[in-house]
Amino acid sequence: MLAVGFGLLGLGILPSVDNPTPARALDLGANSIDNPTSIWVVVNKARPLNPIKYKPVDLVVPGFGPLNANPYQHSMRRDVAAAAEGLAKSMQKAGKGRLVIQSAYRSYNTQKSVHDRQVSRFGLAAGEALAARPGYSEHQTGLAIDVSARDQGCQIRVCFGGTKAGAWLKANAHRWGFIIRYPQNATAVTGYQYEPWHLRYVGIELATDMKQKSISTLEKYFGLPSAPKYP
Ligand SMILES: [Zn+2]
Repeated sequence: MLAVGFGLLGLGILPSVDNPTPARALDLGANSIDNPTSIWVVVNKARPLNPIKYKPVDLVVPGFGPLNANPYQHSMRRDVAAAAEGLAKSMQKAGKGRLVIQSAYRSYNTQKSVHDRQVSRFGLAAGEALAARPGYSEHQTGLAIDVSARDQGCQIRVCFGGTKAGAWLKANAHRWGFIIRYPQNATAVTGYQYEPWHLRYVGIELATDMKQKSISTLEKYFGLPSAPKYP
């Protein structure tokens, strides 16, 4: 064992204080940011889904067993369901609350009716601040979930970020491959106000790399233009 250890040191493979081994850089070409089936797809007000009526083929409606995290029977992509189950379990184990999925996959047509309703009630500007245009919502990818925590209030409100569940999610969601997609102070980049409840699955590798580099938006991470509004 010692011989192996010294051998590796000699090759400079093992890290040392004087010569730390840099973390392996994430291959930015590993997944597409354009293909809607990719877990790295970037959707925003400047980047609609293509095709615009895209629907994932691997949607499931997870029950989450005794966690009962999906009481409203929302659907999401298979990998997202598995990750969300791990997240919910871990949050509960940490004593930070019981996760409840409030929304997940929304089809083009569902988004269209939500958007139409808000715009007819509040006008275009105020309505579109509340509902994305159909084909422009991350929920249509099946990779986004809106969450709350039982008995902690602030459901789908900015103050959720200050609850013990919200704070825990912000610090830990990356361990299951989720990011807070619309972080604080990034409206000019993402086009959305702070949404501490909106989690986007991007996979553990990317979520962890973003966390380690303190890059909070997909736009900045991939060097994409900011998308404050629709073109
Ligand atoms: Zn959302």
